[in-house]
Amino acid sequence: MIDKKNFYINGQWVSPKSKEEIKVVNPATEQDCAVIGLANKDDINDAVVAAKNAYDTWAFTSKEERIQLLEKLYDSYKKRWADIAEAITMEMGAPKDFSTKLQAGTGAAHIKSFIKYLKNFEFEKPLGEHAPNQRLIYEPKGVCALITPWNWPMNQVCLKVMPALAAGCTMVLKPSELAPLSSMILAELIDEVKFPAGVFNLVNGDGATTGDALTSHPDINMISFTGSTRAGALISQNAAKDFKRVSLELGGKGANIIFKDADPEAIERGALRCFRNSGQSCNAPTRMLVEKSMYNEAVERLKKYAEEFKVDDPTKEGEHIGPVISETQYNKIQTLIQKGIDEGAKLVAGGPGKPEGINQGYFVKPTVFADVNNNMEIARTEIFGPVLSVIPFENEEEAIKIANDTPYGLTNYIQTQDPEKVKRVSRRVRSGMVDVNGAGIAVDAPFGGFKHSGIGREAGQHGLEEFLEVKAVGGWTN
Ligand code: NAD
Repeated sequence: MIDKKNFYINGQWVSPKSKEEIKVVNPATEQDCAVIGLANKDDINDAVVAAKNAYDTWAFTSKEERIQLLEKLYDSYKKRWADIAEAITMEMGAPKDFSTKLQAGTGAAHIKSFIKYLKNFEFEKPLGEHAPNQRLIYEPKGVCALITPWNWPMNQVCLKVMPALAAGCTMVLKPSELAPLSSMILAELIDEVKFPAGVFNLVNGDGATTGDALTSHPDINMISFTGSTRAGALISQNAAKDFKRVSLELGGKGANIIFKDADPEAIERGALRCFRNSGQSCNAPTRMLVEKSMYNEAVERLKKYAEEFKVDDPTKEGEHIGPVISETQYNKIQTLIQKGIDEGAKLVAGGPGKPEGINQGYFVKPTVFADVNNNMEIARTEIFGPVLSVIPFENEEEAIKIANDTPYGLTNYIQTQDPEKVKRVSRRVRSGMVDVNGAGIAVDAPFGGFKHSGIGREAGQHGLEEFLEVKAVGGWTN
């Protein structure tokens, strides 16, 4: 078992003051693979003080200085790419190829993208040609608490750490206690390229003790959180006491509207997007809405697709899915699958229990429910497993109504070859993102949600601006 108990505070790896520990479990083997510390209030205070002390210098570094360090970090990341992918496979069970190409790959893509946006960002500019003496100054928000989940560990960490560094903020990162190992490699890289001490700090721990202490610390100016809607609400309460800035990326229950003129691959592509990463993506299209005239054909195709979909050991190469993150999550998914059956949805593929031939690890069968009604729990709750709910609809109006009938609003999907329909429906679905005909959302497009899916946007220009305050100066002379 790997000993990863130390925290990275003020430019050094230090022993925790807290004596409590957490075991990291490999979800494919159910065995402990590492031990980390569980930071208490004193550990948090040390990290926040280090970040606060570093702020006054780091906030006033030049853009060029920050670009240089980020470019070095990008080079180092590429050298440790394979180690990062391996850590992700071990900590959260993403299969080798998926970890390498997508999990570790998105982290690298964000570093590169934020370097580009930093290069082009104007930190000082006039309000407009009409007001040359009115100056806008973009300043870092201050000391940031960055809290991330386990499902896309490096993607989510890079979406926060990179723009915070680029903006001139200092920070304390608390990665998920379930998948902290890849983040600890990133901390090693930040140490190696010599960001000034205190600019970046990493502590480990759970939500109730460590996350709560961090988000309620009075010297934190901004909280950027990705995780459950439940924790997002608790964190907002902590932030409200002293008006900390908050950015929240929360859950989703995306609708994938399949019109009868959808392209021939739309059905299988939709199922793949739902099952990928073992269904553990906030933006997964978990409700497939199918136009009635092609509904029966779609259900037949989904049955075949799900039955042939491979679940296997994540250390193997190839296009399969691995386990879900934990026993708790496995049990939650099983309960929801049973709930679907009890509520009268038609189980078309998969169902309760582990896939055939697999006895160890938190593996779930790719599952498809047909004849789902949008009021059923499987259509309302974010299951976070490879479970697809198929819902029939009569016409465009009804499809939009069902898509919007959810507390969430992260990503909706549209499949049709009619460009006018694409425009009409894109404008009416209530979500931060709309993915049409499998085009995907660009790595630097604003990522975030409406309604209970969160507040704020990550990635690209919008993601950089999340870490900046704007100041207006009247009477500026050039
Ligand atoms: P979670 O909320 O349980 O944990 C996320 C992080 O928050 C962890 O680091 C955890 O320790 C911490 N945390 C938990 N309670 C806290 C509290 N009270 N105070 C401070 N910190 C706390 O979520 P999870 O189970 O790790 O992740 C899955 C969730 O994340 C899903 O709901 C998913 O949709 C969401 N998610 C959203 C996005 C997005 O961008 N919208 C991306 C990925 C995941």
